[in-house]
Amino acid sequence: MTIVDNFTMTDANPITPKEITRANAHDVKIVWQDGHESIYSSRPLRLACPCAACVDEITGQIRVLPPNIPADIRPMAVRLVGRYAIAIDWSDNHRTGIYSFALLRRACSCESCTAAHNERHRREGGGSCGGCSDHSNSASEA
Ligand SMILES: [Zn+2]
Ligand SMILES: [Zn+2]
Repeated sequence: MTIVDNFTMTDANPITPKEITRANAHDVKIVWQDGHESIYSSRPLRLACPCAACVDEITGQIRVLPPNIPADIRPMAVRLVGRYAIAIDWSDNHRTGIYSFALLRRACSCESCTAAHNERHRREGGGSCGGCSDHSNSASEA
């Protein structure tokens, strides 16, 4: 079980991971260049897979449904894709998902990101935030 081994990267762009590690057997942890730390639970992250098999490229319709994802889904390996994304090999043999750093940072669910997100919705007056661009597919699993 490898995740990106000893991954460290230096980049002027703050939305670039400095470290990608395991938070535990199931969760992926990213420390960003700006010091922000994000923990991604594997199930929501698997459901947020943006690949063509999981999301219809034309209609945007989500094809990966929560009942189809094993409860004990976990990342087997994380590979770096260029300097903009990671690819995750999942324990359900799905390995086509490429998660851009921008997507991952938007999907951060830490307290301060969640608060900032909710604040933005309050300001913009939209009561519900389902479907806004900050949400990954995982919003549908609520
Ligand atoms: Zn996928
Ligand atoms: Zn955050």
